[in-house]
Amino acid sequence: MATDGTEIPQTDEEWREALTDEEYEILRERGTEPKFSGELLDQKADGAYACAGCGTELFDSETKFDSGSGWPSFYDAEGAVELRADDRHGMTRTEVVCASCEGHLGHVFEDGPEPTGQRFCINSVALEFEEG
Ligand code: FE
Repeated sequence: MATDGTEIPQTDEEWREALTDEEYEILRERGTEPKFSGELLDQKADGAYACAGCGTELFDSETKFDSGSGWPSFYDAEGAVELRADDRHGMTRTEVVCASCEGHLGHVFEDGPEPTGQRFCINSVALEFEEG
């Protein structure tokens, strides 16, 4: 994790120092990790998933499900994320970013399970798992 949530980097230089190259590429350059590569893909323990950039809790393990997509998937968010239209790569998608540090997390799709019908498709690299 880059910070304890109290000191969010401000400049690009600070972000480069705070994050690993992989984290920087996903969080700050809106990259995507290869599918089925994520450490947290098969994490099934109880706990919270926090932003790897700033430590804000974003998802609860209760809403995690196996989507088969190859990326950690959740059917709900804690309200600490923001949604943005994303028409890059010739697709019309909804980007999910951390509301605190604006780090890119992934995308949300409308083909998720009940009760929300949403599928938050999130890069494992953008998350830190906190058991408990
Ligand atoms: Fe964040």
